Amino acid sequence: MMSSSEVKLGEYLNGSPKIAYFSMEIGINERIPTYSGGLGVLAGDTLKSCADLNIPIVGVTLLSENGYFYQKIDEHGQQIELPYKFNVDDFLKPLPTTVTVNIEGRDVIVRIWYFTVKGINGYIVPVFFLDTNVEGNDEWDRSLTKYLYGGDNKYRLAQEIILGVGGVRAIHELGYQNIDKYHMNEGHAAFGTLELFKKFKSIDAVRQQCVFTTHTPVAAGHDQFDLNLARSMIGDLLPEEILQDITFDNRLNMTRLALLFSNYVNGVAKKHGEVSRLMFPGYEINTITNGVNTQRWVSDPFHRLFDARMPCWQSDPFVLRSAFGIDKQEIWNAHMEAKRTLIDFVNNRYNIGMNYDYFTMGFARRQTPYKRPDLLISDPERLRHISETVGPIQIIYAGKAHPKDYAGKDIIKKIISAKNNIGGNIKIVYIHNYDITIGKMLTAGVDLWVNTPRRPMEASGTSGMKSAHNGVPQFSTLDGWWIEGRIENITGWAIGSRKSNEKQSDDDADRKDLYDKLENVIIPKFYNDRDNWIRTMRSCIAINASFFNTNRMMQQYVLNAYFI
Ligand SMILES: *Cc1c(COP(=O)(O)O)cnc(C)c1O
Repeated sequence: MMSSSEVKLGEYLNGSPKIAYFSMEIGINERIPTYSGGLGVLAGDTLKSCADLNIPIVGVTLLSENGYFYQKIDEHGQQIELPYKFNVDDFLKPLPTTVTVNIEGRDVIVRIWYFTVKGINGYIVPVFFLDTNVEGNDEWDRSLTKYLYGGDNKYRLAQEIILGVGGVRAIHELGYQNIDKYHMNEGHAAFGTLELFKKFKSIDAVRQQCVFTTHTPVAAGHDQFDLNLARSMIGDLLPEEILQDITFDNRLNMTRLALLFSNYVNGVAKKHGEVSRLMFPGYEINTITNGVNTQRWVSDPFHRLFDARMPCWQSDPFVLRSAFGIDKQEIWNAHMEAKRTLIDFVNNRYNIGMNYDYFTMGFARRQTPYKRPDLLISDPERLRHISETVGPIQIIYAGKAHPKDYAGKDIIKKIISAKNNIGGNIKIVYIHNYDITIGKMLTAGVDLWVNTPRRPMEASGTSGMKSAHNGVPQFSTLDGWWIEGRIENITGWAIGSRKSNEKQSDDDADRKDLYDKLENVIIPKFYNDRDNWIRTMRSCIAINASFFNTNRMMQQYVLNAYFI
């Protein structure tokens, strides 16, 4: 079989892509560390599903040659951030084409690397990685594509110029003449609209060509820059006549820029669409709920089981709905195989002696206060009581905190300390350097996937969709996709209030409900009513995996966003 890197340049340049998809991070391959979390993994899943569906698209992102960061955690729970060591030319091919972008009055050379994603029928989707670490650029400019979300505001602004302006120029320079839509995955690439505006000279003409997906449910989360800084960095590419539409409090707001220039805008779950409409009144904001790439997230044992019981599940994940017909024992056997793989990994790496048969919960995501990673262990006494009276408990954590998120780092310390002091028959482990490989093992190998965001802060969330693909039910606050995906006792369980209009999550009420349900519903069902437990597992696949996948998601983008 030909490896993707051997595909010749001409094979995709001869094609005629219609969509250019821009994302600050793309997690396209578990060995390419140019992503930090959900946004990048979604971008990777999106492009993989495009390749499977023969959707004529190209991806554009930054090289981020030192990744986000490699995470170590010392014995006190202190996160240590190291540059990712990544041999770019083992995975990506350089192109002879370069473009330049103007930053602060300097011409900065941008080199382009590419990677090819091969779909299930051999269809090729190229992904371009922009790189300024090029001879001829000055030292600071050479550093701009090293660290994803690194540096200060000015560094970030420069990165967004490279992604947006450099990205659009790269697409044109590479000879793609038939791009109908420029799709911005989050506002980071919105400066690309300015390049298009320079070319087409009308807001309307640009709007015809732009699609914008917003991922941020809180006002403070939207990317914004001091207007004077933006002016000095972008120069005359920033037209005075649109400033009032895109600035707020003398700050240039990237979401407003993207909104102004896009005639299709969407949030990433129904609730998130609602929240976005309230945040940006006057814009039509649609909803396409996220998904995950089915093949990528199904573990090997389920892969074999699905092959045997539901042929065509890979090319058509809707077929997964017939999982209802699979024998329960087969589901359980596949799960236990995935679980043993995870437990073996954890025991081997951390020497903790976790047990294959004990009830195991997983929590892995960016560590930041709104996700309340420590809610699950916030009452150790209660947890010990449950584990002693109902059945033993194991908990597996993973996740990075952004280097400047000091509250997030404190949460890691808290978890490490709880891990060392919890006692009883509870075992807790924290896997360092959460990435796609660990994510895949974890979402498939635990018995229950736990998620505790404060509502409505989680735009969608996707890891629970990965667990659903492996028959692992989710236990989560009703936020993001879970509002759509949860059927109580059938696909998992809700934590806390179900009132959809509640302003703010109540930590105490959520904690109580979390422990009550673990004690009275979930863990007893796991230990004492295995047959019904497996029924729940099976309906996660049939009801949720068959829908919350990026094949369905991309079909909605094509129908609603691209060909409108
Ligand atoms: C899926 C994934 C995420 C996003 O998960 P959420 O549920 O959206 O928090 C983050 N990091 C990695 C490595 C993932 O695989």
